[in-house]
Amino acid sequence: MIEILKKEDIIRLNQLLDAAERIVACVHVSPDGDAIGSALAMQGILRRKGKQVSVVVPNRFPDNLLWLPGAEDIRVYSANDETLKDLLRQAQLFLILDLNEPGRMRELEEAVMASSAPKVMVDHHLNPSQVWDMAVSRPEMCATGEVICHLAAQMGWTADMQQDEAVCLYASMMCDTGAFTYNSNRAEVYDCIGMLLRYGIDKDRIYRNVFWTATVGRMKLMGYMLYVKTEVLPHSHAAIMTLTNSERRRFNTKNGDTEGFVNLPLQIQGIKLSVFLAEDTEQPGIVKVSLRSVDDFPCNEMSAAFFNGGGHKNASGGRLYCTMDEAVQVARKAIQAHLHLLKE
Ligand code: 5GP
Ligand code: MN
Repeated sequence: MIEILKKEDIIRLNQLLDAAERIVACVHVSPDGDAIGSALAMQGILRRKGKQVSVVVPNRFPDNLLWLPGAEDIRVYSANDETLKDLLRQAQLFLILDLNEPGRMRELEEAVMASSAPKVMVDHHLNPSQVWDMAVSRPEMCATGEVICHLAAQMGWTADMQQDEAVCLYASMMCDTGAFTYNSNRAEVYDCIGMLLRYGIDKDRIYRNVFWTATVGRMKLMGYMLYVKTEVLPHSHAAIMTLTNSERRRFNTKNGDTEGFVNLPLQIQGIKLSVFLAEDTEQPGIVKVSLRSVDDFPCNEMSAAFFNGGGHKNASGGRLYCTMDEAVQVARKAIQAHLHLLKE
């Protein structure tokens, strides 16, 4: 396992934890498996140390993560929930997980940043903000769950850890790597998996619990998206998929039902970049953008230049404030501008 902290940082982290009874873990907006798995793992680890720990998320998370141990205690932020506001006000330490800058907490940002309690970020995104009291930032790692695995080993938390936390950490890493099919070539990823398997987790069951949970609506929408809504640009080695809210209604889909659709066009021979454009389900006039690539194509650079976003090299996102037709035009322009990289 990797020694992730310097000696003085171990001491500092222990001091921060020792000084706090009430701890709140927060994650990014639209929490994914890495965000939820990381937060629940930390909730379990620190509860075993006798801390009062709550996980507060900015908005709803996908139903296929509800079975994760501890998920029943997750609090979803709502501006008029006074007990939740009290909980945030009374927090003595914040764990900021799977995000690099406060804005990624969206609805939660104001309440968290208004608190004077120390904030410890544990994350794997590039360019961490300088606002945190302590930052454990490891952009080379596949998931925040991996950062926590190394941290747990180094901090000695693994001694009290139980299978529940191991399940959450495995789910984190599995979700951020497409079940170890991308961004997962470092040997240390498998050191972590080896460590987690020793807690007796059933990784195949975790896979099924997370990924084989499709509703009929999702399967039919997937077929429709592939058949009707995917524009393949073979000469550009790219594909554009679009989804409107009326299509979501037509297939009676639920929150999270479109998870992973963006990866599908990458299965087409020669396709290096997939662009998924979906109308925001909450805010009209916003088109959410997801980008996925293979090899060295830099989705994050494309996202920053064309889609008001960022992220990782092979997986990034952003948003456009326009109609779907206009968004498709922006996507075409973005692809044109990157043709030299796509044709390599
Ligand atoms: P997704 O396509 O799953 O929504 O996002 C993939 C990755 O892109 C996320 O893990 C996150 O790192 C990044 N990302 C998504 N949306 C945004 C955004 O609006 N701004 C930035 N900076 N990054 C984003
Ligand atoms: Mn992540």
